[in-house]
Amino acid sequence: MDYVIIGNSAAGIGAVEGIREVDSKGRITLISDEPYHTYSRPLISYYLANKANWETMKFRSNDFYAENNVETKLGMKAVGINEADKSVNLANGEKIEFDKLLVATGGTPFIPPIEGVDKNNIYNFIKLDDAKSIAGDIENLETGKVVILGAGLIGLKAAEALFKQGLEVIVVELADQVLNAILDDEAAKLVQQHLEEKGINFIFEDTVTQFLGEDKVTGVRLESEKELDCDLAIVAAGVKPNIEVVEETDIEVNQGIIVNNKLKTSITNIYAAGDVAESNNLVRDIKEVVPIWPDAYNQGWTAGKNMAGVKEDYLECFSRNSIGFFGLPMITAGIIEPESDDHEVLVTKNEEEKVYKKIILQNDRIIGFIYLNDIDRAGILTGLIKEKQSITEVKDELLADNFGYLSFNKEWRQERLAK
Ligand SMILES: Cc1cc2nc3c(=O)[nH]c(=O)nc-3n(C[C@H](O)[C@H](O)[C@H](O)COP(=O)(O)OP(=O)(O)OC[C@H]3O[C@@H](n4cnc5c(N)ncnc54)[C@H](O)[C@@H]3O)c2cc1C
Repeated sequence: MDYVIIGNSAAGIGAVEGIREVDSKGRITLISDEPYHTYSRPLISYYLANKANWETMKFRSNDFYAENNVETKLGMKAVGINEADKSVNLANGEKIEFDKLLVATGGTPFIPPIEGVDKNNIYNFIKLDDAKSIAGDIENLETGKVVILGAGLIGLKAAEALFKQGLEVIVVELADQVLNAILDDEAAKLVQQHLEEKGINFIFEDTVTQFLGEDKVTGVRLESEKELDCDLAIVAAGVKPNIEVVEETDIEVNQGIIVNNKLKTSITNIYAAGDVAESNNLVRDIKEVVPIWPDAYNQGWTAGKNMAGVKEDYLECFSRNSIGFFGLPMITAGIIEPESDDHEVLVTKNEEEKVYKKIILQNDRIIGFIYLNDIDRAGILTGLIKEKQSITEVKDELLADNFGYLSFNKEWRQERLAK
């Protein structure tokens, strides 16, 4: 059996391990346009802040490919897929045949069409090479001022890393709050306050309309006509599924590549997993791209097993983020704002302590939550979402400091353990 995997990150590595769980002999070829051993992408901000180095970023040993008998084609881009003769074309003209193919090409930054966006010293922040280039530039900046476009997770991770490198950071955001995909406005206010106290500056409800300067960026002009000086800029305006390699094929695509619970695409023998795939969201019950590391790995693993002939479904896909900024931890999952009248909201907060907890319920099930600066019990809530557990008997205790599995009756606990 010839397995070909495009992408050498969470989903690609999950697939290698899923295949090898079942098939120790089949040939695996793994293609990546990045020239590196697989690494943890969320750690690029730690790399930029000198809190992680290349060795600590590798999430599999140096022997991983040899031990799993994987032929790597690193630093090589896949430019097309031929469904009829089951092969992948590489940019160097090579053609690689497959029996089963996994597309695990992840996400690609959304670059808004802003005048001057192609100037030097303007970067995205999703790859190790982005972090390396930014780190190289930091030493030669004149003003030490950086403008970051976007106050989402990636923009704020870049902001924290650059601030820790001694830069003056201004984040410009079109919305009226930080992290609007994963926090409601109450939690966002507390996070913003914390970041401002640490020294990050924000401009909300505004955007960059022009990057100024000759070859190198020297400032930005905002929609409000305001101008800001900078000699480094980061565009963190969103990430979209990297579907380029399937564009000339008949593979069904919406925003991402549409897959079923077995991670199969609409074309036989071709699978997709991770940030490029649009799969069924457990909480929303719609197909959606859920761009988080654990889902990418688990989808890759399940795709690998199915490619190797074991029929297995992945049914646990829903958004969940466990992050922190300047020591302020937060875990959020699922739906964070009520979307209809049958959604019930439980909230507790302590502004002084920057503690905020919110749980969204529907039909006596937890469908989402935000836990800020007191995250001890959040893992249990994630488990209850996954298991679609009725919480009728423990509803009044959900926000209590001592809430846990012991809050449920003995029979339930025994049944759960037995599973
Ligand atoms: C700064 C940052 C912080 C993050 N923090 C978190 C976090 O705290 N928690 C969390 O859950 N998630 C986080 N994420 C998201 C997480 O990293 C992604 O969900 C995860 O990496 C997705 O894995 P993937 O394998 O689907 O794709 P990716 O990691 O995007 O990897 C895809 C790979 O395929 C390669 N590729 C693409 N096209 C081709 C082609 N045509 N030919 C060859 N190779 C190709 C790409 O270069 C890349 O190496 C973060 C992401 C970033 C950027």
